[in-house]
Amino acid sequence: MAQPRNSRLRKLTLQKNELQQEVLMYRNVMESIRTHQSLEDIYKLIIDNVTKGLGFDRAGIFLVNETGNLIKQVMGIDQHGEYETTDIEFPCGPAKGIHWFSDLVHGHVQWGISNNVKKKVTKEVYERDFLGKVICCAQVPIKLDKNKTIGVLAVDNLFTKKTIKKSDLQALLNFATQAGLAIESYRLHHKVLNLTITDPLTGVYNRRYFDEALEFEFKRAARHMRSMGLLYADLDHFKSINDRWGHNIGDEVLKRAALTLRSGVRNIDIVSRIGGEEFAIILPETPIERTKMIADRLVQAVAKDVGVDQVQAVTLSVGVASFPETAPNPMNLKVSADKSLYEAKQSGRNRVGSLILA
Ligand code: GH3
Ligand code: MG
Ligand code: MG
Repeated sequence: MAQPRNSRLRKLTLQKNELQQEVLMYRNVMESIRTHQSLEDIYKLIIDNVTKGLGFDRAGIFLVNETGNLIKQVMGIDQHGEYETTDIEFPCGPAKGIHWFSDLVHGHVQWGISNNVKKKVTKEVYERDFLGKVICCAQVPIKLDKNKTIGVLAVDNLFTKKTIKKSDLQALLNFATQAGLAIESYRLHHKVLNLTITDPLTGVYNRRYFDEALEFEFKRAARHMRSMGLLYADLDHFKSINDRWGHNIGDEVLKRAALTLRSGVRNIDIVSRIGGEEFAIILPETPIERTKMIADRLVQAVAKDVGVDQVQAVTLSVGVASFPETAPNPMNLKVSADKSLYEAKQSGRNRVGSLILA
């Protein structure tokens, strides 16, 4: 009598631990989203939970790409137990037999286990036959629901060479769904966030984001006693482009101009559309001389690259401001950039204005 009760108790304890693990992971993921951590951190969190929580040696997350034709590793653990991101990818598609992982994603198989090595393997045999191979491994689909699978969670026991049993699998299957939901929550959260901070026409940030970013970057610059630049860029005689070529061509010009500005600065610089044909660019950690140089370069780039099918040149005027030289706070930095832009327009357009104190 005692035996079944004990084994039932053990089973229940195991289930309780697994549930606790899932809840803990979900809480950690939500916390990561709240604290603006990256998707990479979420992947690492999932891997930690599979290894430290469920007890597998290693884990790898493989996700289907947007077009659905590839399944790529987004995070894994290398031979030394360190996180790794590789460019491992496999073909993926609805037909059976394209690849084992593809079959898992498309429901042709439900899971896989392979315990291809016995516990007692000498170092020599291991190095000869198994090095670089996955050992004692299992793969399960990362399923969001009955109809949607976003990837594969693969685990192995490369170091302990512990056999993976079928009973280990249920925990992994449940966990993979939790992991999938966590990834999906993060993706959705960012999609919505992006919609609220980007300009739909040009894809650069919008005015609301610019205002927040300026405050944020300014505080950082002031705290670390670093300089920063601010540019106001306004297309010249844009009204006449609309009048002559129509609003649709005007929109195209705006898109090209945004692209030219975006590709003319560093990734950390913040390009926003703050008005009809007006853009603002925040240049963190950029001294005054360099700010002016970047402004000059952008004026030249727009004159060279943005035109209406070679028929009409499009030019840009830019106002420059710099912290700490021209303004002591974000509000005055805007005023300073605006005055400089006004001067550029007044003195003939297609140029950069002077530095003007606010
Ligand atoms: P300036 O050189 O002094 O800047 O002259 P401008 O013609 O560029 O400036 P103005 O402010 O007179 O005109 C801006 C024009 O931008 C007017 C408006 O129709 C156009 N505009 C604003 N938003 C959009 C948009 O989203 N798409 C298009 N196609 N045009 C827009
Ligand atoms: Mg204009
Ligand atoms: Mg304007």
